[in-house]
Amino acid sequence: MLVNKLFETAIIGGGVAGTSLLFTLARYTDIKDIILFEKYEEVSLLNSNPKANSQTLHVGDIETNYTYEKAQKVKKASSMVSNFIHHFGGVGEIGFVRDKMVLAVGEEEITRLKERYQVFKALYPYLELWDEERLKEIEPKLMEGRKEPVLAMGATGEITTVDFKKLSERFVQEAIDTDKNIQMRYNEEVTRIKRLEDGTYEITTDTTRFTAKSVVVNAGSYSLLFAQSMGYGLHYATLPIGGSFFFTKEKLLRSKVYTMQNPKLPFAAVHGDPDCTQGWYTRFGPTAFALPKLERYHSLHIKDFFSALNIDRDVTSVYMDLLKDKTIRRYILRNVVEELPWLGKDVFVKDAQKIIPTLSADDIRFAEGYGGMRPQIIDKEKHELLLGEAKIVDTGVIFNMTPSPGASSSLSIAYQDALALCEYLGAAFDEEKHLSEIQNRE
Ligand SMILES: Cc1cc2nc3c(=O)[nH]c(=O)nc-3n(C[C@H](O)[C@H](O)[C@H](O)COP(=O)(O)OP(=O)(O)OC[C@H]3O[C@@H](n4cnc5c(N)ncnc54)[C@H](O)[C@@H]3O)c2cc1C
Repeated sequence: MLVNKLFETAIIGGGVAGTSLLFTLARYTDIKDIILFEKYEEVSLLNSNPKANSQTLHVGDIETNYTYEKAQKVKKASSMVSNFIHHFGGVGEIGFVRDKMVLAVGEEEITRLKERYQVFKALYPYLELWDEERLKEIEPKLMEGRKEPVLAMGATGEITTVDFKKLSERFVQEAIDTDKNIQMRYNEEVTRIKRLEDGTYEITTDTTRFTAKSVVVNAGSYSLLFAQSMGYGLHYATLPIGGSFFFTKEKLLRSKVYTMQNPKLPFAAVHGDPDCTQGWYTRFGPTAFALPKLERYHSLHIKDFFSALNIDRDVTSVYMDLLKDKTIRRYILRNVVEELPWLGKDVFVKDAQKIIPTLSADDIRFAEGYGGMRPQIIDKEKHELLLGEAKIVDTGVIFNMTPSPGASSSLSIAYQDALALCEYLGAAFDEEKHLSEIQNRE
């Protein structure tokens, strides 16, 4: 087996998380030798692929499952992605300006939406309330056959849709265009990471062995497995949640239309999105159901899967707590039924009718080949299902677990990691350049 030169940083995983770090290190630091391993032949074939996720740049304005504090954080983080897209000329190719809104249906939701608007308009001054007359003009399908009153809170003129694979490809291109030594190792699966006595890391792949002074693991569902193989994060377990979508046979919506979150449910409520991979045909989803997989469309890695579940008494108690609640039990059952080929769309269409009341099961089809896996993290010590990202950091090694909105936050996570790596390696970070290009454009 060959042993290669010593790299300053090795990145495991070429999704949007790994490639955003590659870009950030190459462009804003003086770290010279960087290697990235991706087990498939291209970047972003798993969750960061536009077929796997909802292509939404989560800003926190129409996501009613976010608290004010979370929205503040997500707004700041995702602005880095829109700033990148503007700065590097990616509008219309990587990121798309389209309208967006959250729709409140019925008096109770309308009251909640009005209250939310009063609080959140300080954070998002561009938000507007759209009444039924306005909705008839901009999204007539929302109003056809509608019996209950509705109100929407929305925005125009913002980047709302991102092809995160194209974003990853641009990150790689921009990194390669610098004068750094960047090695992209495609089709190379990392099988082991080991800390050596001299403090460097040995990275073993199917064919070669590499060494690096620092390692960042951005391997999606596999990040926690790598961490645990090195003795970190043993108090975490993964709950893999699959998400599927349904396409409509006609283009029904021009805007992204989110619905109000049921505060009891852990995963985001159903939404309708014009899909950038399908000529902007409408895609509804995602569903949310536990699935015995770490990759949606690849065969089950049974050993990895059971290691990830890390089932013991604490994990079981988190599952039991979730199942105790009637609303959650119904939601889980409903999402399982929505996956059944002969029944799924008849059940799912009832959720989608909240957005388009006249929609029938014949108008939609299961989006074959679409959907991804959310590696939700369970904190066994706190007996909690974590809904955002999680990170484990030790000397010279970082593991990122990035369920939604991980793609929207990718450049912000990369920024934190780049600062930590610079400190560890004694390297310099060009804060001024990063401020002007990525942090402060707006
Ligand atoms: C249904 C659904 C909808 C979503 N919608 C949104 C949305 O609208 N907006 C948003 O911001 N986020 C959304 N997300 C979340 C978003 O998709 C993820 O946060 C993001 O893609 C995570 O990026 P990543 O690079 O960490 O992981 P991934 O994209 O999964 O990339 C991990 C990479 O690591 C590689 N890899 C794994 N193991 C190894 C190994 N041993 N050796 C080498 N390479 C390896 C994989 O091949 C893969 O390319 C959604 C997720 C789902 C499932």
